[in-house]
Amino acid sequence: MLAAALTALLLAQAQSAPRTVPGDTAGYWQQDVRYTIRAALDEPSGVLAAAGGIVYRNNSPDTLRAFYVHLYLNAFRPGSRWAESERREGVRRFGELPDPYHAFERLGRVSIDGASATPRYPFAPDSTVAGFDLPRPLAPGDSLVVDLEWQSRPSVIPRRQARAGRRFDFAQWYPKVVVYDRLGWQARPLYMAGEFYGEFATYDVSLDLAADQVVGATGVPVEGDPGWSGARATSSTPVTLQSDWYGDRAATGVLAQWGPAAPGRRRVRFHAEQVHDFAWTLNPDYVYEEGRFGSVVLRTLYLPQDGPTWGGGLVIERMARLLAWMDTIFGAYPWPQFTAVHRIEGGGTEFPMMVMNGGPGEGLIFHEGGHEYLYGILGNNEWKEGWLDEGFTNFQTAWNYQRRGIGGSSLATQQQILGMDLDGWSEPVATPAELFSDFGTYGRMIYTKGQLFFEMLRYVVGEDAMRRGLREYYARWKLRHVDEDAFRRAMEDVSRQDLGGFFAEWLHGTPLVDYALRDVRRQRTADGWLTRIEIERIGDGVMPVDIAVPLADTTLVVRARGIARREVVEVATAARPGRIELDPARQTMDWNYLNNREGPGREEHRLGWSARAPARRDRRVVNWLPLAWYNDVGGVTLGFQSRANYLGRFELSATQFTWPTGIGDEAVVGGGARGRPDYYLSFRNPVPGRAPRRQTELAGWWLEGRAGGRAAIEFDRSPRFGGPVRMSAGMDATVMAVTDARYLDRRRWADVNTAEVTAWGARAQEREAGAATARVEVTAGQSFWPETLPSPGWNFPATQWPTGRRLRGSAYARGLLDARREVRAGGFDLRFRAIAAGTLGGTRVPLQRRIFLGGADPYATFANPFLRSRGALFARGGVHYQAPGGLGLRGYAPVASATWGVALGAEAAWRVVERPTRRALTSVSLAAFADAALLDRAALGRGAALDAGVGIRAAHRIGPTRFVTRADFPILVARPRAAVAGAAGDGAFKFRWVWSLEEAF
Ligand SMILES: [Zn+2]
Repeated sequence: MLAAALTALLLAQAQSAPRTVPGDTAGYWQQDVRYTIRAALDEPSGVLAAAGGIVYRNNSPDTLRAFYVHLYLNAFRPGSRWAESERREGVRRFGELPDPYHAFERLGRVSIDGASATPRYPFAPDSTVAGFDLPRPLAPGDSLVVDLEWQSRPSVIPRRQARAGRRFDFAQWYPKVVVYDRLGWQARPLYMAGEFYGEFATYDVSLDLAADQVVGATGVPVEGDPGWSGARATSSTPVTLQSDWYGDRAATGVLAQWGPAAPGRRRVRFHAEQVHDFAWTLNPDYVYEEGRFGSVVLRTLYLPQDGPTWGGGLVIERMARLLAWMDTIFGAYPWPQFTAVHRIEGGGTEFPMMVMNGGPGEGLIFHEGGHEYLYGILGNNEWKEGWLDEGFTNFQTAWNYQRRGIGGSSLATQQQILGMDLDGWSEPVATPAELFSDFGTYGRMIYTKGQLFFEMLRYVVGEDAMRRGLREYYARWKLRHVDEDAFRRAMEDVSRQDLGGFFAEWLHGTPLVDYALRDVRRQRTADGWLTRIEIERIGDGVMPVDIAVPLADTTLVVRARGIARREVVEVATAARPGRIELDPARQTMDWNYLNNREGPGREEHRLGWSARAPARRDRRVVNWLPLAWYNDVGGVTLGFQSRANYLGRFELSATQFTWPTGIGDEAVVGGGARGRPDYYLSFRNPVPGRAPRRQTELAGWWLEGRAGGRAAIEFDRSPRFGGPVRMSAGMDATVMAVTDARYLDRRRWADVNTAEVTAWGARAQEREAGAATARVEVTAGQSFWPETLPSPGWNFPATQWPTGRRLRGSAYARGLLDARREVRAGGFDLRFRAIAAGTLGGTRVPLQRRIFLGGADPYATFANPFLRSRGALFARGGVHYQAPGGLGLRGYAPVASATWGVALGAEAAWRVVERPTRRALTSVSLAAFADAALLDRAALGRGAALDAGVGIRAAHRIGPTRFVTRADFPILVARPRAAVAGAAGDGAFKFRWVWSLEEAF
């Protein structure tokens, strides 16, 4: 057998003595692995038929009795742990992918030291790990030879590997030896969360391919033609094969032994050493470019249409810039070449000497290229300590950008993670990948919080020690397996700090940091000023805290240890210091920055749409907006509002002051309401009352003839951060009193006061094909009218209140059940809604609390100044605005109401224009709809209602605000007198129209 002959040859070359190791690598060992593979690809079936030998030398102190390989491609097929983890997340990708679209990797004949071996699959039905019992125990220092035949096929749905026509991205395509390290065999199935772990090895891979294919691969071509010369971007593009990089490999004559290729086929052999994986890619249309960074050849293989984005040296330049940066922070790149290819899938994946990227961007090249060091050369266990590659390469990318002044600020990143920390969604960064609660949490913790960990480490040890520590880490551990201990000890040795607490806190815990400036005293002394600064540690997180002490021409920064609950720092200065500030560079993840400054906290004031107001990490943002609207009572109404936020989620106060000018209000009997100012005040989520996943609100208003208040609390009860199910529940108490009945549209709102308590729950599930939502709401209410005031003309019985005071009024109740389903299919959006709503209390239910047929009830539209009062701009006759809500019978006038109703709505919209979402107009759809309801007979004189028609919708955005303009034409309305703009004598069929700035449901 060829494989046996080759493996014998390679065995003879195997290193016989373990290398000596410096520093804390004493006692470290890693196994010695050599792969010799020969494979032929059948393009039409996508199947690679391969045979190979693995020579494995046991450098561990243990005697091995078993042997394991990964068959990773078996993850991308039904029955795998991967497919199962997708199903738990509501993702349907590989679990139902049929043959011949899914991937596979099937072992054929296997022998170990010449004895036939049968695989077992310890995680069956998953087959990403195959185990073998060894025919004889493998003692320390002893070697074995495994010969295998297998077939593998990439999947048509790309995931770090793929096939598409004649394009192939071959990754994880061969039986890959499972790492045996000091913790034993690392035989872990492949899950959706988490990546790989490989033994550093020698790969000798011979490929038999269609003659016109262009190949990119780990390693260098040592025999045959990879097809680059014929694919050169220009005739002057150099092609450097580097075939002699590893010595005279071609002399082994593997291709000559294999024999000549069939007609129309070509063979090429690649060789790589000291890499823990081998990937390759094929595309007959690849364009080849080459460059250099020192002795490293840079290659890129891109698509013919990529010339302007990848070509002309653009990507090569970025690769060189990345390698230069990595060289500065770690050390020399040890391999001959670095290739970037335009792969089938978007995003990017790293392989030794090669990145497969979906785009040419600098950020992606820095992230994936950084993995050459942080995974490739410093080979961490990716599923176990993903932060050590993903967080680390995110960090180096951001660091480079920060130094170049082209971004990379971590403030927004901090905010994202603080949101999860504050809501209790964060999980320890060092959690093994598939043990995170969900994929979303895994991604945020490993990539994002992992990045912040390195930024905080740089802050703790200082930039100089950070740089020296990274170089020390690299010098000790390049081309070896690394872990948290290896990294921490390198940083500790260089910084001479005990970093155990810091690593434990940020990698194995989920701390919340909050330091407050408690007291500052400045004292004159004989030779200047002594300032005594007292800080308090409020959070459970411990970080050293920089304290900025501003002087006339400079700012002094002193550092508090941050360990004690209260700590006093004294600073002697010649001049009197200005305002003291904690953590001025915002590097401690201190979540509440509002208590970090002396004196009044700085606020940022802005003018404009509040939706555009940023959420700031370090200060409250207050957004001001002038207001103007009209109604028939106050006339033209002018005013302003302010909305504030801190961190996008706290201190969400809203203030509104408005003055009815009376201009244009002549229509009102008895004169308008000019001159009396109105207000609306609301306070949400104050910092002091913070609790995870809880929101609170207190609001009060004196507004267009109504006074009231509201207290509300809301809980996010979602089972997981990453979805797909979101659940919430809440309660609120609302009082609404009428102070000036002239503002009321008496067809919708009676001159009666109410006090209500509502409890609600909601559930939303995002599915592949569209969302499903449900909401239930129960309200208990009391209407009242003080007996001392004139009767509102409403027939109420008297009620004895506990205070002994007699009020006119009545108890009532409301209930609502609303379920919706959205289905996206091709260019169609299908929407369905079912609603059941009703009241208890019969005719004593105040008019404004009945169930409205045509849309939202008056309390729901009270928040909208264009709908709130009589004669408001959208509430006027002839405007035909439809506010979604109520029973949703959009063809009926907004004044029609019932005591109960059960309604169904359906809408099909066909997207005729679709444009990128960043454009102002993103889509235009044509729609058909039908709404039907059963309701109490008294409402319309008949127990049923129905409308149907066609419509048109346009989706837009203005800045960050997305909205829809909707026009519906309910051509058919049963009980046409109650229809929108209905009149006596109307027929069921008639041209009618309504419009809205919201979807119908
Ligand atoms: Zn990555």
